[in-house]
Amino acid sequence: MKIISVEWGRVSIPLRTPFKTALRTVASVEDIIVKLTADTGDVGFGEAPPTGVITGDTAEAICGAIEHHIAPAILNQEIDDFEGVTGKVQAALVHNTSAKAAVDMALWDLYGKKLNAPVFRLLGGGKTHIVTDITVSVNPPEVMARDAEIAIQRGFDCIKVKVGVNPALDVERLAAIRVAVPKETVLRIDANQAWTPKEAVRILNGMQEKGLDIELVEQPVKAHDLEGLKYVTERSFVPVLADESVFSPMDAMKILQMGAADLVNIKLMKCGGITNALKITTLAELYGAQCMIGCMLEGPVAVNAAAHLACAKGVITKFDLDGPMLCAANPVHGGSRFEGKDIFMSEEPGLGVTGVDGVVPLGQVK
Ligand code: MG
Repeated sequence: MKIISVEWGRVSIPLRTPFKTALRTVASVEDIIVKLTADTGDVGFGEAPPTGVITGDTAEAICGAIEHHIAPAILNQEIDDFEGVTGKVQAALVHNTSAKAAVDMALWDLYGKKLNAPVFRLLGGGKTHIVTDITVSVNPPEVMARDAEIAIQRGFDCIKVKVGVNPALDVERLAAIRVAVPKETVLRIDANQAWTPKEAVRILNGMQEKGLDIELVEQPVKAHDLEGLKYVTERSFVPVLADESVFSPMDAMKILQMGAADLVNIKLMKCGGITNALKITTLAELYGAQCMIGCMLEGPVAVNAAAHLACAKGVITKFDLDGPMLCAANPVHGGSRFEGKDIFMSEEPGLGVTGVDGVVPLGQVK
C-alpha cells in the first residue's frame, strides 16, 4: 500500500458557547483536515486545530508544513514500512507538531485499514469505552456555577474548570461551582500558566482548606518554569499535571526525572501524533506516573484518534476529550460515537472515519 496523494482543507464547526481560557476566547472550531489516499483506493483521515497561543501552529503554518515538507517526504512511500514512513513525518521539519499529528494519525488510519484492525486493537488495547470530563470556561463565578449545572444536566460527572483570569476570583469561582453540583462530582482545574508559583500554592491550598475537593490542577505556572512547577508540586495538596510544559517525549522525560509534576497531559497536537504519544506513555509507565489524554479545541477526527490511544494504554487514566461535546454539530462520518460524557469505540479498521462534510479544499500534492 503506497501513498499516492496528500490533500488538505479547512472545516468550520460552530461551538455551543464561546470557549474562554486564560489565554484566548473562540467561537468555533476551525480545523485543518488531512486526507491521504493510497494506491489501493483506501483513504486515511487526520485533523489539526490551529492553536497559535499554545503550539504556535497557525492554519497557514500547518498547511505550509504539509505542502512543502511532510507531503513530499511521504509521497510514494510504502505503508508496510510503517516505522519508516511515520519517522519521515517527524523528520520532515522541526516543530509544527500539529501538522505532524494530523498526518501521523492519517497514516495510523491507513495502517489499520491495511491490516484490517482498529488502531486501538493494533496497539494492544481491550477497552472500548471511555468517559470524558467537560470544560467550563472562565467567567464570573455565578456564570461558571450555572455552566457547571448545565454540564451536570447533560450527564457529565467530571468538570474541568478554567481559572486564572483575575486570579483573586479563583477560589470564589470553585466555591460557587462546588455548591452548584452534586457532592460526588469530580472537579479538576486548569490555570493555563496564569499563576506565579507562590500564588498557585496559596490558591490551591486555600481551595483544599475550604473543602472544595479539587482532583488535580493543570499547568499552574508558566510552561518554561519547570522549577516553579516543581515548587508547586512539592507544596500543593492538589496533584499537579503538566500540560503546556510537556510537548515532546523529551519534555516528558525531563519533567518526570525532575519530579516537577505528578502527572503529564498528552495531546497529539503537542507531541506530533500517536507515534510520539506512545513514547510518552512508555516513559510514564517507567516512572510510575499517570497520564491525562487531552485535546485542543479539536473536532471528532483528531479526538477519535486520541480515544484510540486512550483505549490502548492503561497508564492513561484521565480523559479530557470534550472537543466534540463542545461543538454544536458533527460533520464527521464513522469513528467513535460521542454521546454526552461517553465515547464508544468503533470496531471498523483504522480509525474508522469514512468522511468529513463541508471541507473547503486548500491544496493537494500527488
Ligand atoms: Mg490544559
